[in-house]
This record gives sequence, C-alpha cells and structure tokens, in this order.
Amino acid sequence: MSKSTKAEGRAFINGQYVNSMSGEVFASYSPIDGEFLTNIDACNEQDIHHAVLGARRSFESGVWSAMPLQERKNVLFKLADLIIEHEEELAVLETLDMGKPVSLCLESDIRGGAHAIRWFAECIDKLYDHMSPNHQGIGMITREPIGVVGAITPWNFPFYMAIWKVGSALAMGNSVVVKPSERASLTTIKLGELAHKAGVPEGVLQIVPGYGRVAGAALGRHSDVDCISFTGSHTTSRELMKYSSETNGKPVHIEAGGKTANIVFKDALNLEEAAQVSAQAIFYNMGEVCFAGSRLLLPDDEDFIETFLSKVKNYSEYWQPYNPLDMQSMAGALVDAAHLQRVENFVQGALDQGAQLFTGGKIKHPDSGGYYYEPTILTGVTPDMTIAQEEVFGPVLSVMTYQDEEDAIRIANGTDYGLASAIWTGDLNRAHRVSRAMKSGNVWVNCFHGGDMTMPFGGYKQSGNTRDKAFTGFEKYTQIKSTWIALGLRILVNVNAHSGAS
Ligand code: ADP
Repeated sequence: MSKSTKAEGRAFINGQYVNSMSGEVFASYSPIDGEFLTNIDACNEQDIHHAVLGARRSFESGVWSAMPLQERKNVLFKLADLIIEHEEELAVLETLDMGKPVSLCLESDIRGGAHAIRWFAECIDKLYDHMSPNHQGIGMITREPIGVVGAITPWNFPFYMAIWKVGSALAMGNSVVVKPSERASLTTIKLGELAHKAGVPEGVLQIVPGYGRVAGAALGRHSDVDCISFTGSHTTSRELMKYSSETNGKPVHIEAGGKTANIVFKDALNLEEAAQVSAQAIFYNMGEVCFAGSRLLLPDDEDFIETFLSKVKNYSEYWQPYNPLDMQSMAGALVDAAHLQRVENFVQGALDQGAQLFTGGKIKHPDSGGYYYEPTILTGVTPDMTIAQEEVFGPVLSVMTYQDEEDAIRIANGTDYGLASAIWTGDLNRAHRVSRAMKSGNVWVNCFHGGDMTMPFGGYKQSGNTRDKAFTGFEKYTQIKSTWIALGLRILVNVNAHSGAS
C-alpha cells in the first residue's frame, strides 16, 4: 500500500476542523521510518472547554439525544459504510502513525471497527426499559444517556478503541469528546470528520488531540463532563480518579492493561495449535496489546518444555517485523523510540534478574529510521521478576513453569492485573475448574482472545472497573431513572416504598 495518504492533524470541533486556540502544535513522525507525517494540534484547557461546551449544547438541544431511534441508527450505519469506503486510507494512516501491519489493520481495526459500529447501532432500538412489578402505581425504570462523555484513548489500537467508546456512547444518545493518544491521533481525527459526514450533528462528536497531561487532564477535570471512559496505563487511571475527586466526582471507567497468563496443560487437545496460538498471543500487534499472552505457563518437565518451546520459536518467525506497509507483513514497528528503549530495558532487566534468552532480544532494521524489535522469548522467568509482574507492551514472551494445577493457578493470579487468561486442556472438568479460579475478566479455553461483540471485555483488579462491548458496554454511558406515577389509590403512607431508604 502507498504512503500517499494525507494526514489531518487539526482538532474537529462543532462539525469542522479548527486550529488549537493557542496555535500550538506538535510534530508526528512515523515509527516505520522516522519520517515526518504532520503537525498535530496541541489542544489546551481552552480548547477542551470549547469542545465540552459544544458537546453540552448539542446534548441539551436533543438534536442527537432525542433523535428518533431509527434515524440515529441509520446515521451510525452510514458511518460504518463511510469507514468501509475509506478503509484503505484509514488503514494506511494507522500503519504510518503507529507502525502496525497494514493488512491486519485493515481487517481487524478498520473493518472490525465498522462491524462494531453496526453492532452498536443495531442495539439502539432493541434495548427495552423496565416496569416495576408493583401494582400500587406505575413504576418505570428507564435508561437515559449520561450526557457528555469524555473518552481518553490509547495508541495501540487507536481507531478501534475510539470506536468501542464512541460507538456505544453515541448509540445511547450521548455527546462525546475524544482525546486520542498523542502517540497516534490521526485516524481518530478522521473519525470525527466521517461521523459528521454520516449525519452525526455538530458538537455531538468532538475530537481534541493533544498531550495527556494538558488536554487529557483538562477533560478529566472538566466539571461539565459527566463521565470519563479511559483505556491506558495504571498511572493515568489514578490521575483521572484524582481529577474527578477534585472536581465533580464524575465516574471514571477504566481499562488499564493486563499480564495475561497463557497456561498449557499436558493434556491439551492439540499441542501444535496451542504452540502456534501462543506465539500469536504475544507477537500479534508487536505485543502492544493489553491482553497479550505475555506469560506462558508450562509444566515443569524438561522434555515437554523443549518440544513445546521449539514449536513456539518456529511460529515466532512468522512474526518477524518488517515494513508494515507490505501486505505480507505480519509485524511492524513499535510506536516510537522511547517505547523501543522501554522494551529493551525490560529484556535487559529480566536477564539481569536471572532469566535466559531463548530467542530474539535484538533491535531489527536499525538503519530503517524506524523502531523494530525481534520476537523474543525469555525462559527461566520466576513470578518475583519485574518482567513477570509489569506490562512490557512489546514482543516479549516470558516462559514460566508450574508444578501442578494449583501452582499454575497461583502463578496466573499472582499479579496486580486481571484482564485475561487462557487455558489449554482436553479435560472438561479442569477447563471449568481453572476458568472459575482465574481472577480475570476474560478466560479463553483452547483458544486465545475468543469471542465477538456479544462478549463483554474488561478486567478484574487493577486492570479496570468496567466492561466494553456487549450490552454491558452501554451501562457506563447511561443512567437509570426511576419514575413513579401515582394511580390515586387510597394509600396515604406506603411504608414498604421507603424501607431501606437512606
Ligand atoms: P501509555 O503510557 O501507554 O501511553 P497513558 O496512560 O500515558 O498510556 O496514555 C493513555 C491515554 O491517556 C493517552 O490518550 C494519553 O494522552 C492520556 N493521558 C496521559 N497522561 C494523562 C493525564 N495525566 N491526564 C489525562 N490523560 C492522560
């Protein structure tokens, strides 16, 4: 695919591209080859305020929040169509911006994004409200949009993560202000334009690029934002909770990474497949995935480990990085130089703590001007090592061993994270037993990252406090109203109605 795609770096506010009020911009360079892409608006507190005011105005006007459901649905269908019409442009833009292979981006992020929008749209007129069973009056329990949603998104799946948040929040009738990651903003900016073209009224979807500590913080602190939906690091999630507590106490919905244990039991149905998928689980998207299978747990048996790991190593070759604009490429560049350095530091730190290098461990294509790192497998990793506890977010697999099922469960659950886990076994009882024991929001049995839009996604423990996708994904973007309509029955005081009330 060609690099001719032109990138727009301005904010998209109230239905048009605008420059940041201060005129401040920052340069965006491609991680593929270090070439300049475009200047991006560095929105500040005033820009955020302007975007939030516009979003509030649009919400209160009812132009979107009160639009007939069929119409709202058609607009989102149209948005999905426009995404498909622009799929090549979006995929190339995403690849240039954050380094992922264009073929996978086209299929998963862009076409997957259009599919997700359609799924959210289809739900719009299929989610019913509730009536209380009480006969003393009419008790209506209705869902309403929460109002103005502030969405702060990450750089690893910039378009797709924006779609999860924007698609479900818009479907419920909210107005949304999105602050994309400064490390990959381009496709989200384009999403604002496409949504407007599709018929999303002005002010309903605002895109405000900029630095996290400026634009993100201003959105997190704004008292006219009704909730924050965030995907990113632990540290930032805590900052956002602090901003909320210091301002209007808005709910902060968080997805903050993972340290997925991928447990292979000797009784796995198909060890060849388990090895192939274990490589994909960590090397897909260069390991820059919150649910990446970064910890491979194998039984403490030398022969088993040798046979299994040699298979994983063979499959890892498939994920060697090179020019992600080549349609055959399965892995591209890491997002930037700082991240490449971070990944290198993690590997060196693990070696210093006693892990061994089984394969990889080197920078690739150093003369390209881009940031490529080999698929890397470390053996001899123990639960106390930093690499076994912290999210690397790179193509680095840590191999750990367990004594028995109980030990595997203990190691798998032994981190602060709880986003996902995977189990390979042919024993039905074990599959259920271990699934139940996993302290993670997602469990995949004899597969990795199984499921579709009907399955909620989110984490236990410090991996987060919310679920995206499925019907549960709508909850954070709505609130419940209880409306009681008296029927004029001759009951002066209904004591039951008040029992337990504070
Ligand atoms: P990462 O380290 O993977 O980039 P971050 O949590 O820093 O993860 O970034 C995720 C998103 O959070 C990005 O859009 C980023 O700009 C934003 N962000 C970073 N710091 C802050 C902050 N202090 N307040 C609000 N948003 C922030």
